[in-house]
Amino acid sequence: MNEHAERTKAQPVEWICRHPTCVGEDGQPFKFTSDYPTCPKCSQTLPIVQLLALVHLIVPSLDGPLQGKNYKFFIACDPKRDYTATTKNREAASNRTSVINCPGCMKWLRDNNLSTIQDTTLLPVGS
Ligand SMILES: [Zn+2]
Ligand SMILES: [Zn+2]
Repeated sequence: MNEHAERTKAQPVEWICRHPTCVGEDGQPFKFTSDYPTCPKCSQTLPIVQLLALVHLIVPSLDGPLQGKNYKFFIACDPKRDYTATTKNREAASNRTSVINCPGCMKWLRDNNLSTIQDTTLLPVGS
């Protein structure tokens, strides 16, 4: 069973190396993109290397495929997708642009010349 089977195929898989001496240029735990959980710096693998949660941007919308509490929404990098996070795919979604790290969603923001999606832009369903 592939525990990442539900993870989007559209974005690269990012890993974080938790080996104490393995840090990136920013002094934070080293992160890398790979199909395999093997650190290119220190050669550690699972469970020292962990899958990094992918945080997507959710965009309020009148006809998005996802139902929020007061509004519908879609995932910026995959507007047709009808689920957000699951316990298995280590994906999350937020409307706070400061916490998203999905390359596809960040590209969507740039393409739409947006820097933030404010709560005040939420569009109530049916209005
Ligand atoms: Zn490492
Ligand atoms: Zn995304």
